[in-house]
Amino acid sequence: MIAWDPNMELMPEAELKKMQFKLLKTLVYRLYSFSNFYHERMVAHGVHPDDITRLEDVAKLPYMVKSDLRDNYPDKIFTADPEELVRYHVSSGTTGKPTVVGYTKNDLENWTESLARALTSCGVGRGDVVQVAYGYGLFTGGLGLHYGAERIGASVVPASVGNTERQLELMQDLRVTAICCTPSYLVHIGETAKKMGISIKDDTRLKRAILGAEPWSDQMRERIEEEMGIKAYNIYGTSELSGPMFTDCAEQNGIHMWSDIALVEIIDPETGRPVPDGEQGEMVVTILQKEALPIIRYRTGDITSIDHTPCQCGRTHPRIARLSGRVDDMLIIRGINVFPSQVEHALLGIPEVSGNFMIEVDRVGALDHMLVKVELNPEAFSDKINDILDIRRKVGHTLKNMLNVSVDVEISEPGSLPRFEGKAQRVIDRRVL
Ligand SMILES: [Zn+2]
Repeated sequence: MIAWDPNMELMPEAELKKMQFKLLKTLVYRLYSFSNFYHERMVAHGVHPDDITRLEDVAKLPYMVKSDLRDNYPDKIFTADPEELVRYHVSSGTTGKPTVVGYTKNDLENWTESLARALTSCGVGRGDVVQVAYGYGLFTGGLGLHYGAERIGASVVPASVGNTERQLELMQDLRVTAICCTPSYLVHIGETAKKMGISIKDDTRLKRAILGAEPWSDQMRERIEEEMGIKAYNIYGTSELSGPMFTDCAEQNGIHMWSDIALVEIIDPETGRPVPDGEQGEMVVTILQKEALPIIRYRTGDITSIDHTPCQCGRTHPRIARLSGRVDDMLIIRGINVFPSQVEHALLGIPEVSGNFMIEVDRVGALDHMLVKVELNPEAFSDKINDILDIRRKVGHTLKNMLNVSVDVEISEPGSLPRFEGKAQRVIDRRVL
């Protein structure tokens, strides 16, 4: 195994935790002393830096949410002097003001090192030609991956997004071996290649793709890997945390969250209580060494689980599972957190039904009642009632196993459920909450 920073990446877990505690303590003292925002928050929350006496005490600190950044637009939470800032990134908000993230030289350095480790763990290195097909500009993807790939000595092709035929030409002519982009854009590149009579597998040297910035599934990974003859890795990060920073390693078994950079908690989004390793919840992240825009206990809204067991690759830093949804999408059915993405995931494993579905939630008496409407695939369509009942039972079992809650299933004809352009509205909740 080749690691970019073996001392750090293979450090025993106990030492990592000690280091995290030191970094956390330093961060909290610094912000209590020098940040109005954090000082006021801590005072209002009744917590003093002296109360942080072990790593778990991070839970005593107040949360931070996206609207804190919007409300303090553009730079009221920044703790570095303006002349210390060397870059800004701006993320466009779907509602209201955008959020602005500033970076000091050290902030960029930590971001770049994080990606250098991550890219190395995916098997990218010196001698690789990396096509960065994320947007360059205010969005963090392009420049982030650009500097990360340069740091490890790879040759970078700063292709940015768009002009897909030209992307393919560059890929072939410059003997590109790795591409960084969104999964949907890579699929589009693949389709365009087919139309042009190019086989990514046979006519290019592409071996790896580092994909993220939008939700995607393991099924999609398998499809991409098989069709293109490559390995596809998952990358995570949001602009608030600095940008994309963390990826799968070659084991493709979870995203390593570097402990010296991020302190990760997984909480129940309803109660705020921590959930055990392996259980799904909302990811809360403290970035331990950020200077310009410090982030303590940021509620990402992303649903995942964490695994602290040693990875086959040898790295000791914990791994998070592929994101399985957003907190905003969560339903609580009879006290159990249910995500539409879990339903989607379950249905993808049942060949008789399509991935198109609707969820309807009602309250019958005092009890929540969830109905999942699914659509038959044309090949499975049958006029025999027993065939349909068998499929219905199978879907019901699979969903119960996945969700830990019983649901009713309604099977409908192929093509009968609504289609969505853009973000699908698959949930109708008729409960008066
Ligand atoms: Zn690993």
